[in-house]
Amino acid sequence: MPHHLLVLNPATEDVVATVPAATAEDVDAAVVRAAAAQRGWAAAAPADRARLLRRFAAVVDDHIEELARLEVREAGHTVGNARWEAGNVRDLLDFAAGGVERLSGRQIPVPGGLDITLLEPLGVVGVIAPWNFPMPIAAWATAPALAAGNAVILKPAETTPLTALRLAELALEAGLPEGLLQVLPGEGAVAGDALVVHPGVAKIVFTGSTKVGKSIMAKCADQVKRVTLELGGKSPNIVFADADIEAAAAAAPMAFLDNSGQDCCARTRILVQRSVYDRFLELLTPAIEEIVVGDPADERTQMGPLISRAQLDRVRGYVPDSLPGIRGKAPEGPGFWFPPTVLTGVAEDAPCAVEEIFGPVAVVLPFEDEADAIRLANATPYGLSGSIWTRDVGRAVRASRAVRAGNLSVNSHSSVRYWTPFGGYKQSGLGRELGPDALTAFTETKNVFISTEA
Ligand code: NAD
Repeated sequence: MPHHLLVLNPATEDVVATVPAATAEDVDAAVVRAAAAQRGWAAAAPADRARLLRRFAAVVDDHIEELARLEVREAGHTVGNARWEAGNVRDLLDFAAGGVERLSGRQIPVPGGLDITLLEPLGVVGVIAPWNFPMPIAAWATAPALAAGNAVILKPAETTPLTALRLAELALEAGLPEGLLQVLPGEGAVAGDALVVHPGVAKIVFTGSTKVGKSIMAKCADQVKRVTLELGGKSPNIVFADADIEAAAAAAPMAFLDNSGQDCCARTRILVQRSVYDRFLELLTPAIEEIVVGDPADERTQMGPLISRAQLDRVRGYVPDSLPGIRGKAPEGPGFWFPPTVLTGVAEDAPCAVEEIFGPVAVVLPFEDEADAIRLANATPYGLSGSIWTRDVGRAVRASRAVRAGNLSVNSHSSVRYWTPFGGYKQSGLGRELGPDALTAFTETKNVFISTEA
């Protein structure tokens, strides 16, 4: 009897599906199929590859509602978010398709000949995706990897394999060659590890915990395998006294509560200048209390459940009832519910203030001046995102330069657009995804010198 993954609806704990888990032998067979498909794909005319990817995008577009409803059921995402996520897959495919014919090398002046660079596909790329944004994060790597002429084997997270499996079916429906995009649901330590150590896999793109990311990087070193890592975060939301405090307080809740806080960019460290600290909390309190938490399929819901019992236990472990703070509402009964929570009066170096909780929990810490704000903002091993609220343009620029993180926003909390680069400083990751250079992360640069002397 093969091992199966159990997919639960996080809002009800009902079983949504059971899915056979891939073994290391399944990975071996998938790599053989992928390598064969990749050769034909890389040799195809760029315009044909682009056309097929655009067709894939169009088929995804025809299935947005179905994919969104599936994501609501398997991941507990609010239906509005889930629709956006499915649309994001379509947009990523269209954007990558636009890059196929533009993926050009360079011609570099040299004496005695002609020097050109070729951007060649890597071959078979392994994508190991997390459960927090199953569709977008899978597509961040898959779309540009395919566009650059690679084959992809995608291993979704144990808890969320269903949308990935459906996307693989849609790829075939769109006419992508058999074997070019394969989805292998399975355990991280089995199917994920088999991809990481397989000599036929040229690159691993991993998104998930920093702990697993480090172990994958170490294993990739053995074959000098290419690796992109998108890991955790504990991002600051810095509110200076000269900011529009009303706007900053209004935006702060969803900046860490979106996706129930299961977002690597969540602004979970709210740093507020001491002179406006009390006023900010006064505004934040009702905003947190009014967040609508409940059935993710209901259009009015702002926040759904956590992904699993394990994640719920993990979040609870960080938030004993004794800690002071602001607490919102959450449903009782079945489902993995945790209320929106803002902790006040915690030490700067308390675990809840420096470790990634990955739940609807933020801390508020006061700071004295700009230097103190920057010191606090940088006082974690992470460096993924951050926000800076100020009306002073010079301060916005100085703080943007000083905060060591890959994705900052000023007077806004936006981090991720498919056409701008995304990735982490420090232990938040390695490499960049998305943006104008997304495709080149899936190529090797070959330099060729052709003598004109012979
Ligand atoms: P995880 O890192 O264990 O899992 C992420 C993916 O890696 C999954 O597909 C998993 O199957 C796979 N994986 C696990 N072990 C592996 C191994 N040894 N070899 C190859 N692949 C492996 O994350 P998790 O347990 O699902 O979540 C734990 C914590 O990670 C969260 O609480 C959160 O802090 C963090 N996290 C961060 C992100 C992010 O986007 N940065 C996403 C998910 C989780």
